[in-house]
Amino acid sequence: FMLDSCVPSPDPSLTVKFYERTREQQATLGYLVDTSNEVAITESFEERHGSVGAKAGRRAIARGNSSEITDALFRYSAPEEVMAFPSTCSACAAACECRMFVTNIPYFQEVIVMASSCDGCGYRNSEVKPGGRIPAKGKRITVQVENSKDLSRDVIKSDSASVKIPELELELSAGTLGGLVTTVEGLISKIGESLERVHGFTFGDSLDDATKSKWNEFMTKIDKLKMLEEAWRLMIEDPLANSFVAPATDRLEDDARLTFEEYERSWEENEELGLNDMDTSAADVAY
Ligand SMILES: [Zn+2]
Repeated sequence: FMLDSCVPSPDPSLTVKFYERTREQQATLGYLVDTSNEVAITESFEERHGSVGAKAGRRAIARGNSSEITDALFRYSAPEEVMAFPSTCSACAAACECRMFVTNIPYFQEVIVMASSCDGCGYRNSEVKPGGRIPAKGKRITVQVENSKDLSRDVIKSDSASVKIPELELELSAGTLGGLVTTVEGLISKIGESLERVHGFTFGDSLDDATKSKWNEFMTKIDKLKMLEEAWRLMIEDPLANSFVAPATDRLEDDARLTFEEYERSWEENEELGLNDMDTSAADVAY
C-alpha cells in the first residue's frame, strides 16, 4: 500500500512517491522481515471498545536494527537499573537477552528503551517507546540552523512526525523516514539517502535529462545545508509530541534558535491516530 508521498519542490516533474514494500516483497529482496508489526495487529484485535487510545500510546517512537538508538540515548543518562529478560532473536530464533531501561530526557520526556543483540548471528534490534500518557496537544519544533553546533544537536524524530525544510521547499510526511534517533546533520543525510534510493527505484535509467538535472540540483542543495552556506530552518511537527531536538544551551529558555510550540490536533489527525472516540480515562491508563 502507499504510505505517503514527498514533494521536494512544487515542480510536478520531481514528485517522488514512497511505497512500503509488503512483507513478501521484503523477504524476496532478502530483507529481514520484521514481525513486530504483526504482533501489534494481533494486539489491537484484543482491544476492548473504548481503549483505542492505548494503540497510539504503544506506538514506538523509533526502532532500528543497530545500536544507534541505545548509544544516542545513553548519552543522556546511564540508567541505574536495566532489566533483562529472555527473548528470541527475530533473525535466527536463537535464545537471546532483551534489555530494557527507562530514561528521562531533559526537556523531553520519559522514554522506555528496549534492546536486544544476538550472540549467535549478531542481529541487533532496539526500540524506543514513550513512557508517559498521550499528550493532549501536538508539538511543533523549529530549529534555526546556523552553525556546526546546530548540526550536531541530537534529534529524536518519532514515527508520527513530519519534517519540513522551508528553504528547500521540502516536506516529508511521517512515514517517509519512520522514527529516527539521530542529529540534525544525520537527519539531512537520511533525507538525501532515502530520496536517492527511491529516486533510483522509480526512474532507473529511463530518467530524462531535465529530471536528472533537477534531481542533481536538489541533492546539491541538501549538501549546501550541511555546509551551512546559509542559515536554514528544520521543522518537525508531531501530533503525538514524541519528537525532540536538544537545546544547545543548558537552559532551554536561553536557546534562541530552538522553539517548541504546542498545537491542537486536527480532527483528521486524531482520527488517524485512533484518538477520536477515545475515553480519556483510558488514555490515562494507557501506560
Ligand atoms: Zn540471531
